[in-house]
Amino acid sequence: MTVRAIALVLGVSLLCDSAVLAAEPDIAVQKLPAVTESIPVATDVRLGGDDKQTRFVIDLTQKVDVAAFTLADPYRVVIDLPQVTFKLPAKEGEHGRGLVKAFRYGLIMQGGSRIVLDTKGPVRVDKAFALSAAAGQPARLVLDLVATDRDSFLRNITMQDRGARASAAKTAIVAPPEVAGDARPLIVVDPGHGGIDSGTKSGSGQDEKDVVLAFGVMLRDRLEKTGKYRVAMTRSDDTFIPLDERVRFARAHKASLFISIHADSIPRSEGQAEGASVYTLSAHASDAEAARLAEVENKSDVIAGVDLSSEPNDVANILIDLAQRETKAFSLQFARDLVGEFKATTRLHMHPLKSAGFIVLKAPDVPSVLVELGYMSTKDDLVHLMSADWRARTADSLVHAVDAFFAPRMAGAGGGVR
Ligand SMILES: [Zn+2]
Repeated sequence: MTVRAIALVLGVSLLCDSAVLAAEPDIAVQKLPAVTESIPVATDVRLGGDDKQTRFVIDLTQKVDVAAFTLADPYRVVIDLPQVTFKLPAKEGEHGRGLVKAFRYGLIMQGGSRIVLDTKGPVRVDKAFALSAAAGQPARLVLDLVATDRDSFLRNITMQDRGARASAAKTAIVAPPEVAGDARPLIVVDPGHGGIDSGTKSGSGQDEKDVVLAFGVMLRDRLEKTGKYRVAMTRSDDTFIPLDERVRFARAHKASLFISIHADSIPRSEGQAEGASVYTLSAHASDAEAARLAEVENKSDVIAGVDLSSEPNDVANILIDLAQRETKAFSLQFARDLVGEFKATTRLHMHPLKSAGFIVLKAPDVPSVLVELGYMSTKDDLVHLMSADWRARTADSLVHAVDAFFAPRMAGAGGGVR
């Protein structure tokens, strides 16, 4: 209560040094009613202005600290907040106004939410401030943007506090407790997207991030039940995890297999597609569809407003070279096993085995596959994806494929596996 009360008094913290803190003069600061310990709720959003100046306002149930910064290529403005529950009108954010093309919002880490505005061109954050509830108005977050040129925009970015930005999206993935002498292989289950990055959407509004999380949890439980594996998830709730972080986690814990779970969608104009596909890593996409998909999936960090330029990037730059040959062979072997298992239980895509340059598959030492369970955009596939029965059958197929993959090595290990 006290901490929150102090935060309410302090109100604003700014990262963008060009921003001027200025409360609207006509708004009297008055004492708030009793503050609850609950998470603030964003209840409404407004955009006003034109191509020169645009104001972005969010109504909140409590005043929150706000920090804003800009990112280039594509041009974005990122607003970091403490954890906020977004209860904004549906589809809000899909259409912008003035300098703002579109915006999205969600959890970026435990205790932290983020709003990312895509802007039509280079902009400057003129003001970013929070207002307490007053004169019958709710608490608000106000962001004023003005158009600028690319040179000034880039200059401004270098002046921003890089350290603060880089740490903003750091989420620690929880590893399973290491038990001494536990030689069982570690499998990392990686539900795609999360938090501010919803992934694709079905026509009826289901988010990929929720579908793949539900499936991932089911898969973890079934793998654990075999007793043969240790299992870790890159996320087990609605939190955003950067792509590199997922890979780093698998490598740091010497995972024996990395399984990324996704659900695809294609625009109606591109015809119909259905069924599951299994992807492995390759420098050159196996076909146009694989290339399109990798491009979409690799955008996750951009969507979340992660500043890749300041990240020590030991994964994205790894060359696919000879050192990865063995890993590639294992990845492909598991992908083939999996497609074989899926044949019996799951509808498969016409060309179910494909490859492309997915960032999340780039661990040079961990066999990795990315499973697209089906198409959120295809009615029958969506029925499957939403069915607990289908998910259970498909997860069982995955477990069988994992068993087949590890069986030779477990036998060779002389019973070192329980
Ligand atoms: Zn995805």
